[in-house]
Order: sequence, then C-alpha cells, then structure tokens
Amino acid sequence: MRSIRRVRFTLPALAACAVAAFAAGAAGQPAGDVSAHAKALQARAIVIDTHDDTTQRLLFDKTFDIAKRNPNGNIDIPRMREGGLDALFFSIWVPSTVTGPPAVRKALDLIDAVREAVRTHPDDLVLATTAADIRRAKSEHKIAALMGVEGGHMIDDDLRVLRDYAALGVRYMTLTHFNNNDWADSSTDKPAHNGLTDFGKDVVREMNRLGVIVDISHVSDKTFYDAVAVSQAPVIASHSSARAIAHHVRNMTDDMMRALAKNGGVIQINYESSFLSEAYRVASEKHSGDVVAQLAAMSKKCGGDEACSTLESARINREAMMNGTLPKVSWEAIVDHIDHAVKVAGVDHVGLGSDFDGATMPLGMDDASMLPKLTDALIRKGYSDADIEKILGGNTLRVMEQVEATAARLNAR
Ligand SMILES: [Zn+2]
Repeated sequence: MRSIRRVRFTLPALAACAVAAFAAGAAGQPAGDVSAHAKALQARAIVIDTHDDTTQRLLFDKTFDIAKRNPNGNIDIPRMREGGLDALFFSIWVPSTVTGPPAVRKALDLIDAVREAVRTHPDDLVLATTAADIRRAKSEHKIAALMGVEGGHMIDDDLRVLRDYAALGVRYMTLTHFNNNDWADSSTDKPAHNGLTDFGKDVVREMNRLGVIVDISHVSDKTFYDAVAVSQAPVIASHSSARAIAHHVRNMTDDMMRALAKNGGVIQINYESSFLSEAYRVASEKHSGDVVAQLAAMSKKCGGDEACSTLESARINREAMMNGTLPKVSWEAIVDHIDHAVKVAGVDHVGLGSDFDGATMPLGMDDASMLPKLTDALIRKGYSDADIEKILGGNTLRVMEQVEATAARLNAR
C-alpha cells in the first residue's frame, strides 16, 4: 500500500495506507513459541509471499542492508530465514500519479535494485522467474527473489514496455494501482472505463502469452470480472483480503473469490490492518487530527523517498494502535481471513501476500520471522499439513506452472 503521496485519497485513507511495523514492543508471542510440528512444517514447505515492498528500501534507504538484521521494517535475509520464507515477489511500485516515461524509468530503477540485490548476495538470494526456479532455490537453501510490477501505468500504454519488463524477469503485473490508468479502472478511483478497455484486454492477452501472471489486487470489481473473462490462465490477487470481514474496496467479495476459484486463481491474503479489521478500518477512516497531521508532516519530510514514508508511517500508526488512538489488530485476524477464503474459494485458492514493508502490520506479525505463527494457528484450527503447504506456497507454484504452460501453448501457435 504505502504512503500519502501515492493516493488521491481523502485523509482517512491515509491511516489505511501506512506502514511497516517497527519490530519492537508488539503484542503476541515470538515465533519461537510455536510448536515443533509447526516449525518442521514451515521448514519443509515452500513458503511464498507474493507482495513485499522492500524494493523501496533497496532503492532509497542507504542505511538498509538486506543481509543484516534490521531494527525496523519487516524483511531482510536473517528474518526471512528465521520465518522460513523461501520466495518473495519484490514489488516494483511507482505511485500511480507518476505516469509516462518517468514511471517507466523509475520502474527500471526498482527492477535494477532487485537484480543488484541478488547479484551482490549470491549465497542467499537467487533470481527466480519460474516455479521450477523456486523449487531449485529451496533445494539449494537460497531465497528465491521474484518481481511483480504493481500498476499497469508503468507500461506507459505500450506493450513493448510490458515485454521489456517480462524479459527483465517480472512475473506478475497488477493491472492498476490506486488510480485508474488509461485502460483499467481501480477500486479506489471513480470508474472511467467500465472495467478494462479493449487495449486493457490486449494487455491481459499479451501477459498470458508472456507468462506474466495477471494480478487483480487494486482493480475495480468490474475490472476483476473483465480480467477473469479474458485471461486464459489463472490470475492472482497478490495482496488482498476478504471484504466479508473488512469492507475495504481493496478486499475481495465472496462472489469475486468464487469467480477467482473458477478461474483457477489464488487470493493471497494481505496483512494490512485496515484490510483485516473492520473496527480498525472504520476508526482509521473516521480519524482526523493527530495521525493525519503527522502523516502529512511525514510526507513533507520524506519528499520522494518512499522507504522513508513507509517507515515513518509505520511508526505513527504503530504508536496510534499502541496508545489506543486506533483499535488494536491482532495477527490472528490474518488466520481468520485465510479461513474465510478457504471456506468460500476452497483450499486450492488461498495464499499469502503480506504487503510487508508497505502496510500497517497487525500486532504480533511484526516481520517475516513471525510467519511460523500462521502455520501453528492453522494446525491448531485442524488444517492438514498438505492443506497448509498449499496455502503457504503450493497454490502459488501451481498457478505459476499453469501460467507457464499457457504461455508455452500460446507461443506454439
Ligand atoms: Zn498495493
């Protein structure tokens, strides 16, 4: 999600957009408290997170070293190792208010930052573009780094740019971000195209041919239904939760989840507090005063540095949760959303898309090291090991394989 400048939002939404949580001081037990069963399952499973905004830190934050354990933010190699996170999609995100060639240029800078992080940490990270790459990385005890472009505005209305991104290793594209683009409507903007335009449908077809997963997080409901109608391959919601629990437009309705399941896709549950908790969402949307003023000051202070904005928002929203200005949201809400999505869409269609380093994490899910708590909670809920493995990453691998097979079939024509 992230910060203030990227949205043409009213102030209440700002609180909904913040924050990588500061690790210290949160409620909930440390990940070390999970059962031996959960630890073993976490270690054995291929755990994939389809949305992480750590890329902004790679590009902007000169103090950030992904190889070291950092006192802030949610993601670095030590904490990924500790949490058993085997693969992550680094988000290539440029605010949707930035368009045209500047958006392309910035997207290329972010792609370069990910590729450079991989190049300079060869013992820990490996660039992955296929399901087989992820399986190989796991067997070599490396973390698979993948990339997703978060917002179709970054192709500058040009399929050649989409092809360039694919050639550089991008494996999903979110059709919109917070604003509509020239060919697709966003869930957080006024409808302008009634979903996807004809060119928007061509974008989806070209993504199918290139083996780039269609991501429907952020898009309007109509854009979602258009996308699943056009796409010949399963689609994902890379970071969305259940609207039946928290009525945020960024979340998916039960009907959308059923359509997604029919398409073979996966909803990757987002840990952003306003997507998890209706009480938090309502309170943050009503909020005016301190938090909003602080966020505005933060925006000014950080200028164009998105990593700074994220960390500052994190601090402000975490403080608001801890001092009671905003309702506390527990990490267990993530499990409620997973469970709801499994009941509606089926266990083959649910996964994890944390929004780490780009959202307000619930208390007790302060960083990637705490992921085994989710596995432990699912075991306690009665989920089988096989079903938990699907949720942790198996479903995403299956979608990737289907997307790859569709691309091969379309290119063979
Ligand atoms: Zn997002």
